[in-house]
Amino acid sequence: MKLRTASAAAAAAVVLALTATACGTGSDSGSNGDKITIGIKFDQPGLGLKTPDGSYAGFDVDVARYVAKELGYDEGKINWKQAPSAERENLIKNGDVKFIVASYSINEKRLKEVDFAGPYFLTHQDLLVRADDTSITKVEDLNSKKLCSVTGSTSAQNVKEKLAPKAGLQQFGGYSECLKGLEDKKVDAVTTDAAILAGYASQQQHWGKFKLVGLSLSDENYGIGLKKGDSELKTRINKALGEMVSDGTWRKLVRKHFGPSGYKNEPAPKIAG
Ligand code: GLU
Repeated sequence: MKLRTASAAAAAAVVLALTATACGTGSDSGSNGDKITIGIKFDQPGLGLKTPDGSYAGFDVDVARYVAKELGYDEGKINWKQAPSAERENLIKNGDVKFIVASYSINEKRLKEVDFAGPYFLTHQDLLVRADDTSITKVEDLNSKKLCSVTGSTSAQNVKEKLAPKAGLQQFGGYSECLKGLEDKKVDAVTTDAAILAGYASQQQHWGKFKLVGLSLSDENYGIGLKKGDSELKTRINKALGEMVSDGTWRKLVRKHFGPSGYKNEPAPKIAG
């Protein structure tokens, strides 16, 4: 009798463990029936920001909300997951997220590992320097300077490969760490997409401290990253993005999130079919 109870309990434990595995995130590529997990940035004001009250704000976040809704997931059904630049491909490949909307530029290297819907936004690489700096006006000036960018970003890759290979490049996990370095004079400039830099510069705690140099060092076409080969999801997301532009939401969101930073956006790019 005793033995039977023990084995029944063991069997129950096995069933529980199996159920827990099946319900865990990642078991079905970022969605488990009624929930969806979406990767965003947590520390990029204007694009993807986790606010002190625990909510999420930014252009990418609202694009993600719009797309999720079109796919049948209301806000309450979304799990937000932080997607640092260097981890995006892995998060997608491991099925930790269904898709990623996180200032994620479409490029050849990434297309070998993941697919992209979009593009839904175009920006360009630029530099952020301290407001009183007059020594950095062009990209060549960086070769004798300390520069900060983020591991796994196109911004860091462009600096190393072509823009300023001789610059002292420091790479962090996120751009907010670079901003701290710029403020503390540990680095002379931060480089990434102008839309991101403008967001930091316009934060109240940074008012008057920094300026964008105003260079257009690359084309960064933001796409929504998803599992390679999932053409059904890609088609559905592209359809949602097309609607977002044609129903006027894109325009509204651009004004809402880039208006405060004064970032001069490009027109909506043509979304792939
Ligand atoms: N858009 C660039 C990239 O995808 C820079 C911004 C970022 O690191 O998220 O790498």
